[in-house]
Amino acid sequence: MGASPSALPIAVIGAGFSGTMAAIQLLETLPRGRPVLLCERSESFARGLAYGTGDFGHFLNLRAANMSAFPDRPRHFEDWLARNAPSLPPEEAVGIRVTPAGTFASRPLYGRYLSEILTETVTNGGPPRLRLVNDGVTDLVPSAGGFSLRTEGGLGLPVAGAVLAMGNLAGTGEPHSRHRADIWAPETIGRLQPDQPVLIVGTGLTMIDAVISLRRRGFGGPIVALSRRGLLPNTHAPAAAHPVPNLTATDLSSLVTLSRRLHASARAAGGDWRGVIDALRPVTDFIWRSLPQSERGRFLRHLRPFWDVHRHRSAPPAADAIDREIADGRLTVRAGRILSIADEATQAVVTLRPRGAAEPERLAVQCILDATGIGRVGETTDPLLRRLIDRGLVRPGAFGLGLDVGADFRARGQRQAGPVWTLGPLMRGALWECIAVPDIRNQAADLAAGIAAEMARAEAA
Ligand SMILES: Cc1cc2nc3c(=O)[nH]c(=O)nc-3n(C[C@H](O)[C@H](O)[C@H](O)COP(=O)(O)OP(=O)(O)OC[C@H]3O[C@@H](n4cnc5c(N)ncnc54)[C@H](O)[C@@H]3O)c2cc1C
Repeated sequence: MGASPSALPIAVIGAGFSGTMAAIQLLETLPRGRPVLLCERSESFARGLAYGTGDFGHFLNLRAANMSAFPDRPRHFEDWLARNAPSLPPEEAVGIRVTPAGTFASRPLYGRYLSEILTETVTNGGPPRLRLVNDGVTDLVPSAGGFSLRTEGGLGLPVAGAVLAMGNLAGTGEPHSRHRADIWAPETIGRLQPDQPVLIVGTGLTMIDAVISLRRRGFGGPIVALSRRGLLPNTHAPAAAHPVPNLTATDLSSLVTLSRRLHASARAAGGDWRGVIDALRPVTDFIWRSLPQSERGRFLRHLRPFWDVHRHRSAPPAADAIDREIADGRLTVRAGRILSIADEATQAVVTLRPRGAAEPERLAVQCILDATGIGRVGETTDPLLRRLIDRGLVRPGAFGLGLDVGADFRARGQRQAGPVWTLGPLMRGALWECIAVPDIRNQAADLAAGIAAEMARAEAA
């Protein structure tokens, strides 16, 4: 006999920060008879793409003070760091830096913090309600009471509903070249000739990670980083706290009026743009939802690169390393566009048009690394998402950035079936601030409360 629908588990698909915290919050809020499955295809639970790096030179891009995993315990990560710092071996202790802009920790340390939180949850005593499924989920097939969850390993598990927490989707595979390599695969670096040039496409935080990894693994050759505008992320610096701005309907009617208002605020604050941008955080999603659709489109086309470099700042130790690279001529940051790539036996010849130049230039490189960031749902080749889109269970949302999702975290599709929720980077477009820890920890708590209420209503009906 199958389990009664009220005892069927809720599945969480993906165990990066989003999925792990969603599962932990679900265990807190769901009745004790309702189990939770946490499914992860990689060997490592809790860390995900961002905190799975083993490189202690990869720093969190937010201060430790902003990185607690729990919305109701703001000092949780700082306290963990303080407890653990004295016992760290020297090679890991370099992963904690106290700077005038605040304390910054390395991402492997943060990954360890998350792993410990998950381990404590699993070994907490009492009857086990959290089942870790180390398998890739391939499909959700609608069935009585919810779905049959299918995995690469051949499992078919009945579940009442599923939370999609697959996070940072891979890009589209561009630029096309035989010499393109995976920026997150350590073996990429091991295969490089130590002195031949490398091209990194993208000049944001991922590019900074890649340069740091290349140098730490002994790559000594020239690195060229290219993006349309060649903008580098700004660096964290001490900033005064500013009040959340009180924006009027006129401020929010267009990007022009909004930008004028923010520039005026920055001038009034004596040019402290960091404080002004930080003060926007609690209202960024309100701003995003209030702007007309056409203005949101204009933001994505024209302003987004400028927003990104002001909003997503680098930790001072990482920024110092990049400044030294540029000063020494080992890293060149270029603004321009790739026109074509010709693959030769041992190199790719990239033809690019530098920004503002009439004539193209050629650049011969041994390898091209794609650091352009998170892929879009609208273009994804992720097998599970493609299947769910084909089944009509979910669909791409505004601008194809993330999923079409309601304020209750329910993903919307063409057909009615069991509940599918989402959080984290898959909400891009519906929300604007949804990819960093301070946003996701709130989403995880709100999502769990919403699911518990929905399940209770369904049982009572
Ligand atoms: C390099 C990098 C650095 C970052 N640094 C910071 C930072 O310092 N501070 C900050 O606040 N934010 C940072 N972020 C933002 C980051 O997106 C969030 O902090 C958070 O890690 C997102 O977690 P996630 O679980 O949504 O996604 P991910 O970390 O991408 O995790 C998704 C997980 O789902 C699994 N998965 C995918 N598909 C399946 C499937 N079909 N079946 C089973 N498992 C599946 C994947 O294996 C993966 O483990 C960074 C992001 C990146 C990419």
